[in-house]
Amino acid sequence: MKCRCGRKAVFHSRVYRITLCDECFPKFYVNLVKRSIKRYGILKSSEKILVCVSGGKDSTAMAYALNELDYNIELFHIDLGIGNYSKESLKAVEELAQTLNLNLNVVKLEDYGFTIDDVESKKVCSACGIVKRYIMNRFARERGFDVIATAHTCEDIILFFIKNVLSGNVEYISKLSPRIDGFDKLVAKAKPLFERTEKENATLVLTLNLPFTPMECPHAPNDIWKEIIYEIEAKRRGFKQNFVRGIVKLAKSVKAEEWEVKHCKICGEVSNFEICSFCKIVERYSRKNR
Ligand code: SF4
Ligand code: ZN
Repeated sequence: MKCRCGRKAVFHSRVYRITLCDECFPKFYVNLVKRSIKRYGILKSSEKILVCVSGGKDSTAMAYALNELDYNIELFHIDLGIGNYSKESLKAVEELAQTLNLNLNVVKLEDYGFTIDDVESKKVCSACGIVKRYIMNRFARERGFDVIATAHTCEDIILFFIKNVLSGNVEYISKLSPRIDGFDKLVAKAKPLFERTEKENATLVLTLNLPFTPMECPHAPNDIWKEIIYEIEAKRRGFKQNFVRGIVKLAKSVKAEEWEVKHCKICGEVSNFEICSFCKIVERYSRKNR
């Protein structure tokens, strides 16, 4: 297959009815990200953006696109201490920062006295989510960033939606907006890749030979819902992107859960309880307390 410019194609999309080469695809991809940001008001050109990178293909693609679009960005990585996976991830983000000539900030969970590998297996992903959100938010606020960008793809948003609907957490759907403004001590959050698919992100990083790790976290659960989403997409072209746009419309109309803003008695960060979930995790797993 050939690109519209006549060169050998690397990407074919049935959704966009387009076939592109290694030179035309990156421009097409960056333009799609630009269009999402503009249409949904995800980022402002005046903002200082903390771009969270895990070392995987999705956040690598996001860093590349935001850099190409000339946003004021710095990279941010949390070393979770998950054996070889974390070592490879850190190596990849260091190489990425060098390739894109960007400042990289790294926080090591070990400095809090524990790693994700210390958390009991049943609770590992929920603890990891709490830890990441807390550290990202605190770091961004203390260093004067206006917004935190995370690389949630359209598959991530659909999975989150299905799981929350199934467990009756309907108010949670409001969190699926591509931009959530900050309040109190919480910094604004942005998902500039919410319309992008994993396949598009993978094609971008492979085409440009950007540094990333293909390793999966050893704690990642097998997700049957992901397989189902891919099966539907194979039968219904454009299902994922149409579905995610519907979810985002719905997210706007769902009233966020009302809660009284409290501050953790230990660390002073925003919390639903007297002691925040992060401090409870530190209390439970930190070697200093064992
Ligand atoms: Fe954390 Fe790994 Fe679970 Fe992802 S899969 S939330 S990185 S423990
Ligand atoms: Zn706390």
